Amino acid sequence: NRQIVLAKRPEGAPDGETLRLQTGDIPKPGGGEMLLRTVYLSLDPYMRGRMSAAKSYATPVEIGGVMTGQVVAEVMQSDCDGFKAGDFMLAPSGWQDYAVSDGTQVLNLGNEPQNPSWSLGILGMPGYTAYAGLLQIGEPKPGETVVVAAASGPVGATVGQIAKIKGCRVVGIAGGPEKCAHVVETLGFDACIDHRAEDFADQLAAVCPEGIDVYFENVGGKVLYGVLPLLNPFARMPVCGMVAWYNLTGLPDGPDHGPQILSTILRMKVKVQGFIIFDSFPISLYQEFAREMTGWLEDGKIQYKEQMVDGLEAAPDALYDLLEGRNFGKMVVKVG
Ligand code: NDP
Repeated sequence: NRQIVLAKRPEGAPDGETLRLQTGDIPKPGGGEMLLRTVYLSLDPYMRGRMSAAKSYATPVEIGGVMTGQVVAEVMQSDCDGFKAGDFMLAPSGWQDYAVSDGTQVLNLGNEPQNPSWSLGILGMPGYTAYAGLLQIGEPKPGETVVVAAASGPVGATVGQIAKIKGCRVVGIAGGPEKCAHVVETLGFDACIDHRAEDFADQLAAVCPEGIDVYFENVGGKVLYGVLPLLNPFARMPVCGMVAWYNLTGLPDGPDHGPQILSTILRMKVKVQGFIIFDSFPISLYQEFAREMTGWLEDGKIQYKEQMVDGLEAAPDALYDLLEGRNFGKMVVKVG
């Protein structure tokens, strides 16, 4: 059983010493348990937070502990009621080939799921994050302007496409011309700006002539500072993530933006609300999401892009790439 464990807490960006591959015996399930073999491992920005001992909404991974992660796994043997060999599960097994489960915290995907890896992305946590954050907190109305960064990733791409379905004008922000072209041409956003451009803030202002009504916050940093002067009265800002700052060890360089942020919120009467997806909304909303998203995918109203990486040993570098924007689409590791 290969496992990737946390070797050292990173200072700043994680590197070759942060995670370590180790090999051990395949675990043996006891009474009432089942053995799961990982097929796909999801890589997500929150994993950077789990490497850190800083206070957060979730407990960090211990040094020497297996890295946290959602997987799609196949049941190899089962003594668990309601689960049989050959079934596929969505399970919190972490970064390893095999894990034992007692059937709690897993979702049975059946024995022949279509696109099983999608339950790690568009039909799972990132898709639901986009749906709930945009619709419940962002409250987009037809004709309004919605802006979202990390626009080619699983959350941002979904936010923008749902906002289009709701009749909004949608502006994406992404890193580089290839991602921006995808966001406009394949995902159907009205415009997409490269946040690495020198004149990023001017370009953003030019494509938002009527200001911004909903800013779905995924990244923080320079993107947030470009958005602030464009926010309209009563704008909404679901605060979902701040990936530009996840590797910081102290305050960012440059001027203190605190006064600018708070005075914009005050003067423009902006609604700012943070959320953590699985404890901020009622479970009934998840069911509504699953039904609606399945329909949109079947009708071709939502496009979905994955980046599949081969082999568990490739997972650490793939996660570091994701944190720096060197992914293109939802990052998934094909483990076995
Ligand atoms: P992505 O797959 O989109 O990956 C992160 C992307 O962030 C990168 O590809 C990169 O895209 C962008 N990025 C990285 N650094 C910067 C930077 N300095 N400035 C601007 N963009 C940057 O991630 P997800 O779709 O999975 O997640 C998006 C956000 O949502 C994250 O912040 C994540 O933590 C958050 N999230 C929050 C949840 C919650 O419950 N609150 C649940 C799920 C996700 P590019 O190259 O285009 O810049």
